[in-house]
Amino acid sequence: MTETLFTKIIDREIPADIVYEDELCLAFKDINPQAPLHILVIPKKNIVKISDTTELEQDLLGHLLLKAGEIANAQGYGEAFRLVINNGENAGQTVFHLHIHILAGRTFSWPPG
Ligand code: 5GP
Repeated sequence: MTETLFTKIIDREIPADIVYEDELCLAFKDINPQAPLHILVIPKKNIVKISDTTELEQDLLGHLLLKAGEIANAQGYGEAFRLVINNGENAGQTVFHLHIHILAGRTFSWPPG
């Protein structure tokens, strides 16, 4: 099992601005925000990327999405937010522990960069 920055945040070895936690996931503010609201939702289970998941993770993945919506709402951005998952280096993934970006508070363009 590879330790990443995010495992260290789960284990409280490095600090983070945590906004939500339950037995399955943790959500904290991104250190380099790309929008007024930029939160990362991560599973506590060590999963490198979404393409590594199987039906075994179906409930967990549903939980992460549900919580992402609830967190956006709780932060005051329930009407408009964007969820992003970068899968693999060429898609922009830099931390190899699955995470959902919640971005809100500005206008987003499409297609994304
Ligand atoms: P990725 O590029 O893998 O999709 O997203 C990784 C995200 O993690 C980036 O948005 C980056 O700013 C954020 N990040 C990297 N290191 C840390 C850290 O130590 N603390 C927090 N809170 N966010 C981090």
